[in-house]
Amino acid sequence: MRAIREIKLTNTLSGKKEVLETLEPGKLKMYSCGPTVYGLIHIGNLRGGLVADLFFRYFKRVGYDVTYVRNYTDVDDKIIKRAAEEKTTADEIARKYIVEVERDYAVSGMLEPTHKTTVRDHIAEIIEMIEKIIESGRAYVIDTGEVLFSIEKADHYGKLSHKNIEELQAGIRVEVNAKKRNPMDFTLWKPAKPGEPAWDSPWGKGRPGWHIECSAMASKWLGDTIDVHHGGEDLIFPHHENEIAQSEAASHKTPFSRYWLHHAFLTLSKEKMSKSLGNIFTAQEFLKRYGGEVARYMLLSVHYRSLIDFGNETIEHTLQGLHRIYEAKALALEISKQARARADLRAESVWGEFAASSEAARKEIDDAYANDFNTAGALGSLFTLIRAFNRAAAEPLARATPSAVLGATELLKIIDDDIGGVIGVGRLDPRKALEDISRIRAERSSATGTARPTETEILALIAERAEARKAKNFARSDEIRKELDARGVTIKDGAAGTTWDYK
Ligand code: AMP
Ligand code: ZN
Repeated sequence: MRAIREIKLTNTLSGKKEVLETLEPGKLKMYSCGPTVYGLIHIGNLRGGLVADLFFRYFKRVGYDVTYVRNYTDVDDKIIKRAAEEKTTADEIARKYIVEVERDYAVSGMLEPTHKTTVRDHIAEIIEMIEKIIESGRAYVIDTGEVLFSIEKADHYGKLSHKNIEELQAGIRVEVNAKKRNPMDFTLWKPAKPGEPAWDSPWGKGRPGWHIECSAMASKWLGDTIDVHHGGEDLIFPHHENEIAQSEAASHKTPFSRYWLHHAFLTLSKEKMSKSLGNIFTAQEFLKRYGGEVARYMLLSVHYRSLIDFGNETIEHTLQGLHRIYEAKALALEISKQARARADLRAESVWGEFAASSEAARKEIDDAYANDFNTAGALGSLFTLIRAFNRAAAEPLARATPSAVLGATELLKIIDDDIGGVIGVGRLDPRKALEDISRIRAERSSATGTARPTETEILALIAERAEARKAKNFARSDEIRKELDARGVTIKDGAAGTTWDYK
């Protein structure tokens, strides 16, 4: 088998950048924690999906035989609560939002994972894993029909978050469940309340706790040892720490995952975008307004471990980047299609230089990806090459030569394959893409040119209103609604949180 290109990854487990070595040469098993389906996802969640898509694409590109599993958390308190609010079943809610998420993911150009899994389809595997954990002496049953994981019995609990049990304990709320041996012990199985989804188990009718689903699904589809596990940095503790404890207790194999990759948050005014804060921009709203290409560029042009603070500047920067790529693509297409290219000595040397630059750029782009997915570096190399291309093409005589055609073809290949195949942008018809960018810019300037507030202002006001409502300050929340209304923005409170639109 041919050697696969060396890739370096920042492994949360060691806190260091390491060279990727999979358990089985040439094969890569990857698991990514997907969304809890109780409402529409926001653009922070979308970042998670896209980062996993980036990893998947690049691992495949360098030649790994990749098995990629992504789950939907479809059994959860929040889903049950939403079902009660909407007077329907938890199953219906989960189904409905899985369809919505799938649509958002498709519009964002994500590749289909090898397996998409749900809790409902893995109850047998979950029960089997809990039984193994009990057998290994690391879990105990209490008389209410609840199974708890005993963290004192786990080996090296805290190794992912780099904290010891005492430190972790100091940071948690005092537990109400007096039957826990340690306040940090967590639920593997819990008895269901009347009306809640429930399954038969050796401990009575109930449902799984949150963390066990990912351990059980990973082991079913990927085996006891996986290569790469991904999620947002909020999941390091307790979710991923608990996954490690469960999986290693059940399989007696360590490590459960050889590499742990965590992406940073998308924030708004430096606060995490999240439904509970009410400062969300739904993926659907974003995609409707800007399209998948803008979403991909905005969320993947920044290193996955760097925070993205969403706002006007982020959008402007994204539009500028895409504009540069598509302008170059339009020019390259025009040059590459010239039928009557004539050789010209001066042009030969100009384009000869470009050929050398494009070869170097290809290597730089690949080196950047292989260095912990440095997409910003890869795009930087593309932009340097585009500048060289524009310089070479600036001379009209030099444009109509065979070497210009070769140069243009090379640039098109880099945009389409090296950037398009991994970051997934630049593959559209340039005329159409440039039109879209102009339209978005026109809409934005008409929004900012008048008294209408910008998206960032609107989201900040909506978040402030949610805070006011939580504090029962209804005077302030009304005032914010009126202010937005007067400035041309209507807001609507619904199942997905507060949504808004320009009037
Ligand atoms: P949840 O639906 O909350 O379980 O989240 C699904 C995925 O989205 C997880 O991998 C989270 O880490 C990730 N996520 C949630 N909020 C954000 C955010 N603001 N920025 C980036 N990722 C997020
Ligand atoms: Zn998970």
